[in-house]
Amino acid sequence: MVQRKRIKIKGIVQGVGFRPFVYRLANDLDLKGFVRNTTDGIDIEIEGVTNNITQFIKRLQEEKPKAARIDDLLTEDLALNAFKKFVIKESKISKGFTQISPDIATCEDCLIELYNSHDRRHGFPFINCTNCGPRYSIIIGTPYDRNKTSMKKFAMCSDCEKEFHKVTDRRFHAQPDCCMVCGPRLSLHSIERGDVKTDDPISTVAELLKKGRIIAIKGIGGFHIVCDATNSKVVRRLRKFKNRPAKPFAIMVKSKDLKKIVNLADAENEIISSPVAPIMLLTKRRKIICEEVAPNNHYLGVMVPYAPVHHLLLEKIPYLVMTSANIQDEPIVADEIGVVKKLKNIVSLYLTHNRRIENRCDDSIGLYLFNKGFSIIRRSRGYVPVPIDLPFSVKPTLAVGPYLKNTFTLANKQEAYVSPHIGDLDNLETMDFFNEMVDKYKRWFRIEPELIVHDLHPDYLSTKIARKMKGKKIGVQHHIAHVVSCLGENKVLDKAIGIAFDGTGYGFDGNIWGGEFFIGDLSVQKRVGHLDYLPLPGGEASIKKPYRIAIAYLYKLFGEDVVASLFCSRKGIVAPFRVRLEEVKTIINMIEQNRNVVYTSSMGRLFDCVAAMLGLIKEITFEAEAAINLEYIAAKRTRKTYPYRIKGAEPMIIELNGILAGVVKDLQKGVSLEVISAKFHNTIVYLSLEIAKKLSRIYRMKKVCFSGGVFQNRYLLNLMIDKFEDAGFEVYVHHQLPTNDGCISYGQTIIGNTKSRQ
Ligand code: ZN
Ligand code: ZN
Ligand code: FE
Repeated sequence: MVQRKRIKIKGIVQGVGFRPFVYRLANDLDLKGFVRNTTDGIDIEIEGVTNNITQFIKRLQEEKPKAARIDDLLTEDLALNAFKKFVIKESKISKGFTQISPDIATCEDCLIELYNSHDRRHGFPFINCTNCGPRYSIIIGTPYDRNKTSMKKFAMCSDCEKEFHKVTDRRFHAQPDCCMVCGPRLSLHSIERGDVKTDDPISTVAELLKKGRIIAIKGIGGFHIVCDATNSKVVRRLRKFKNRPAKPFAIMVKSKDLKKIVNLADAENEIISSPVAPIMLLTKRRKIICEEVAPNNHYLGVMVPYAPVHHLLLEKIPYLVMTSANIQDEPIVADEIGVVKKLKNIVSLYLTHNRRIENRCDDSIGLYLFNKGFSIIRRSRGYVPVPIDLPFSVKPTLAVGPYLKNTFTLANKQEAYVSPHIGDLDNLETMDFFNEMVDKYKRWFRIEPELIVHDLHPDYLSTKIARKMKGKKIGVQHHIAHVVSCLGENKVLDKAIGIAFDGTGYGFDGNIWGGEFFIGDLSVQKRVGHLDYLPLPGGEASIKKPYRIAIAYLYKLFGEDVVASLFCSRKGIVAPFRVRLEEVKTIINMIEQNRNVVYTSSMGRLFDCVAAMLGLIKEITFEAEAAINLEYIAAKRTRKTYPYRIKGAEPMIIELNGILAGVVKDLQKGVSLEVISAKFHNTIVYLSLEIAKKLSRIYRMKKVCFSGGVFQNRYLLNLMIDKFEDAGFEVYVHHQLPTNDGCISYGQTIIGNTKSRQ
């Protein structure tokens, strides 16, 4: 029997070689008709024998191109039309929109050509095809066609044109297709002296890097600051110029060299070499990479080359520091003006090209949890702007996200477009980036928000912006957004226990929350437990200098003498540093007079406090540095814990006296810092489990979710997962979104919508 069918497909089906694939498949099965791009996906009409049509629909899903994603496939029977052949038709513009593909790492086929001296693209730093290359970062508008990308200024040469129109070619309708004759070009510049003349910019750059120079290199989502990762001297210099004493730098190495520097499990290898090519945190091995790259750290942040220029460069110099080109917390620099303006004190040279980066995005960062799978820390290049499923259909919503590690979410129906990592909303540049991306997202995805969701904190810039926007406004508590985000991403619709261990979040009572237990679902969350409130003297100053937290906590719990003996005396047990008695007195005064003191139940601050008591750090240079130091020294083997007490019910309050007194006692006895750290971690796990068991008995529920920045601590997270699962809990953690504040806007979207219905 002969039939005609229409097939409509939604998902990531443009810019990934979908139409040529459909064309080949149709011809293979002797089907006639057409395929075309529409604004909301792909339209196919096919006519032929029923059996072949069934095969076609099956193989469409099974054999689709690697970078494609089918979200929705609808079929419809039509009257016969007597098509003569199968063709690819012009794009049809309608009211909907299509998903935009993320940037895709250079594919195997392109690499073979890149290294083949007989190929016309041998050594061409912009080689790409329908299966790989820039996408999101070069898009100006939709639908995805060359004239709506920054490739529009490059007119194709006749050879490229032929490929572009030849259905059987790997570059058929590859919008960024180009070659040495017609494509973008690399050029090398000195900030002081202008253009650097060279026939082979990559070799010149490699030579200069080997000599210890620091150079900015334009990539896919922005510039990197690059230097030799084996050269201590240059990495130290980079740290000085960047004013970044300790925060780890990411490095880039070829896949074949990975195992020389890190331990790499198959599951980790699969992710790092995927089309996304994120930075992966992997455990360090051997000493090829100099210690200065990630000082006092178990892990190295490593990525493999994902653009042809990286492949070519790493041929000549194998281990490179590749850190986002920015100053402090500003967004990544993506154009030449930015390099000259912002980076002149860091680099003297920059390697660039004349294909504009339209949409900036940082490298994504992830890690692999052996008991839970992939976990993302920063979701940007390679992931954005692919939507994340929502657990239910929402009205057009903009959730503006938190203050730190901001992302926003623009959502409609069941799709949440979570923005790339924007950064900390405390400077003009980041605010500009935020506004730029909100505008673009609205335009690309055709969503005009009716509901605006923001944080409860009245002074956050994001809250202030939200208030000025049109639409209904709803404020959401930070840790409720955390918990709901985790439940939502895991599609947990019934009630569960939510544990939010975090740094900072404004609470309903005006205090800073962050060590929280909730009971609830996607619409209502009740706070049922938290760490005891303790004073945080001078707010921000305490976060920078965690010993101030330790002084405040210990003073509140044990009085002045204990504090003075710990921090000020010559025989003080806080080993590497002492605090002047006057500073201790000042802090005590602040607490006594309740002046410039906020109260906090933050788990992050408790970790800071213990790290300071162990003398691990006096002043932090990046977020969570103290807590990270505490995690890394934890001895794996001890099972011991400190005493703790849970008082009250709803909310249950966790008293910290026992824990902190236990740490002091161990310090006095000379117990090793490694053991103290492990005992502290264990204590947090066991007290959490005890509370969860109580809640589970009262509320009859077995599901529990973990969210919040503290869960980036792998020692803690792994132990929590194991112990909770041993006790019969169903444990949910984040996979598609970061457990840190990168998940907040997604959680705001969900709870904002359920609240707006109430
Ligand atoms: Zn390719
Ligand atoms: Zn060409
Ligand atoms: Fe948070």
